[in-house]
Amino acid sequence: MKAASFDYHAPPTVESAIALLQRFEGEGLDTKLLAGGQSLMPMLNMRIARPQVLVDLGKIEALDYIRAEGEAIAIGSMASKRAAEDSPLLREQQPLFHAATLLIGHRQIRNRGTVGGSFAHADPAAEYPAVALVQDIRMRAQGPNGVREIAASDFFVTFMTTSLEATEILVEVRLPPFRPGTGWAIQEFAKRHGDLALAGIAVTLRKANGRCEDVRIGAFGVNATAVRLPAAEAALNGQSATTENFARAAAVAGESVAEPLGDVHATPDYRRQLVKVLTERCLAEAAARAA
Ligand SMILES: Cc1cc2nc3c(=O)[nH]c(=O)nc-3n(C[C@H](O)[C@H](O)[C@H](O)COP(=O)(O)OP(=O)(O)OC[C@H]3O[C@@H](n4cnc5c(N)ncnc54)[C@H](O)[C@@H]3O)c2cc1C
Repeated sequence: MKAASFDYHAPPTVESAIALLQRFEGEGLDTKLLAGGQSLMPMLNMRIARPQVLVDLGKIEALDYIRAEGEAIAIGSMASKRAAEDSPLLREQQPLFHAATLLIGHRQIRNRGTVGGSFAHADPAAEYPAVALVQDIRMRAQGPNGVREIAASDFFVTFMTTSLEATEILVEVRLPPFRPGTGWAIQEFAKRHGDLALAGIAVTLRKANGRCEDVRIGAFGVNATAVRLPAAEAALNGQSATTENFARAAAVAGESVAEPLGDVHATPDYRRQLVKVLTERCLAEAAARAA
């Protein structure tokens, strides 16, 4: 199939893109932003989405960067996932985010797909939202009234829905410093290499005197949006880093996932079991990495 017809604009600046969004909003036209097109183009071609106007962000060079800002790392929303994959800054200072990037689709998809697009698309099975919850990544949205910062916990609302307003553009994601000595892991299960995950887990934790602390567990592919698993985190916090305790916390993770998704690919029970198994593996891997 081919996409239904639409008007196309490719503004050169964020400000001119926002002005277009405001104009079309005022005219009552259904408008979509286009970034790397790796999710939107298939949706257009299958006519799952039929916007009347596309505003392409591809000409806005000012949104394409990955740079250190103080101790944080700022990623412009139009930086490609390939750039994130190749970034020494991310590889050396943000190992969890970097590892998550390598799990996304295939290299061809990472060549064109943008970092901002993955956050804004908010696919429940995407890796970045779970990493964002675990690491307190902050989003910067720009709209007619300027720039506002949104915490990851307030950004992902539900299935493919964020708290961005219709006239706002996600301009940057900001990664807080990854504390030295923090253990991390991300694992997922997909039917084929490069497919979106049936379920996945991202973990960070710290160790002090052999005990786990600041345990953070994020799950993706399981609910309508990525979620933290606070009951499982609490089950391991303050406990010694042993395989028995990892298994106990993982069992809590599996039990505590509220109403896992069920579809043609996996039943809710199967996803619950994946959460348990992947959590146990991730906890062991993260603990081994923790200094
Ligand atoms: C075969 C295949 C496998 C894939 N596997 C994975 C995977 O394993 N994990 C994963 O996470 N993703 C996967 N993807 C999706 C891929 O990562 C996309 O790149 C990503 O979801 C969207 O990024 P994009 O830049 O292509 O955005 P687009 O497709 O251009 O846009 C997606 C949506 O986000 C909105 N949007 C984009 N940028 C902005 C912005 N700056 N501000 C506001 N709204 C914006 C658009 O309006 C649109 O609604 C896969 C895709 C394919 C085709």
